[in-house]
Amino acid sequence: MIYLDNAATTKPSKKAFDRACEYVTEKFYNPSALYKEGYAVQSELKKARSALLSKVADELSFELIFTSCGTESDNQAIFSFAKRGNAVTTEGEHSAVLSPFGELKNRAIAESRYAPLLSDGRVDVEKLLSLVDEKTSFVSVMHVNNEIGAINDINAIAKAVKQKNSRVIFHSDGVQAYGKIPFKLSKDVDLYSVSAHKIGGLKGVGALVKRKSLTLPAYILGGGQESNRRSGTENTFGIKQFEYAAEEKFAGLKENYEKITEYREKLWSLLDKDIYLRLSSENGSPYILSVSAVGLRGEILQRMADDNGLIIATGSACSSNAKMRYSRIVLACGYKENVADGVLRLSFSPENTENEVEKAAEILNTIGRELKNRMK
Ligand code: PLP
Repeated sequence: MIYLDNAATTKPSKKAFDRACEYVTEKFYNPSALYKEGYAVQSELKKARSALLSKVADELSFELIFTSCGTESDNQAIFSFAKRGNAVTTEGEHSAVLSPFGELKNRAIAESRYAPLLSDGRVDVEKLLSLVDEKTSFVSVMHVNNEIGAINDINAIAKAVKQKNSRVIFHSDGVQAYGKIPFKLSKDVDLYSVSAHKIGGLKGVGALVKRKSLTLPAYILGGGQESNRRSGTENTFGIKQFEYAAEEKFAGLKENYEKITEYREKLWSLLDKDIYLRLSSENGSPYILSVSAVGLRGEILQRMADDNGLIIATGSACSSNAKMRYSRIVLACGYKENVADGVLRLSFSPENTENEVEKAAEILNTIGRELKNRMK
């Protein structure tokens, strides 16, 4: 089986899993306990916090709060700071941002505003800035788009937003960027969401990186864990496994970036251009290659690929419940419905091999031709 749906989730790192196992078998103590065994686990959590944070931010200015997933981090950021006036985001966001933005309006918390995308999937920065005014409390712009891999220059966007209104709290969903794209947060970004399972960690572990000077209200109330911002006994095993998986990914970040760029370009070069149209730009994240089999149904091709030993996605896996026939993001990029209907997302991990990439192209060409012939 060839797995090219790594933007949905990645295979957990076995090495990181084995290293973290002692937090289940021996060091299972409650990190909030006052006896020395609990305290020792608390200091291991502290190490994980610092290791995960230092990969993307300066530890003097930022801190990190563990959450249960990227979705929770996004929700926590939005519901904590989009408090009055209006809140601005983009049409390209994951549902973990778009749904809470819908709720801001439903619950009459703030007016929700959406900036359009450029054809390559990045946000139209000029239009985004035109939505920011003196009543804007919160702006959220994703770092890497999960469907077509477009990269937003969030440091530059945050700076421009703050020049327009210095009181705005700027958040970015970094779930598809963390551990994949070389990057450090600038002083203009206030909040950044990450998730473990996109980089060899486990599902159910995430984090919200936050500027220290920003007061984050308690999001889940209870025993006061995570400095009273997010109560609940910590998932020590999941957190340590995340730390170790991130250590591996960040150690190989540059090398992986180059290798995956070669995979993306190789796969594209081998695909039949009479069937597939490339949607992901060369400047996007190499981890995601989005193509469209124009005029064909992506959903059917996905099933045919699966039957032939290739796992791929038609769009964001997390939006599969929405039963949307057309890719919302691709429509937002300005493509017509016949393009949006045929979208296939091929997403890589450093564990993929060149041989798998070649085989995947062969399968995609065969099934594409077969379906096209059937449609005649
Ligand atoms: N944000 C983006 C950009 C994503 O791609 C995803 C998952 O696909 C999420 C948020 C949600 O992350 P999690 O699955 O950790 O809740």
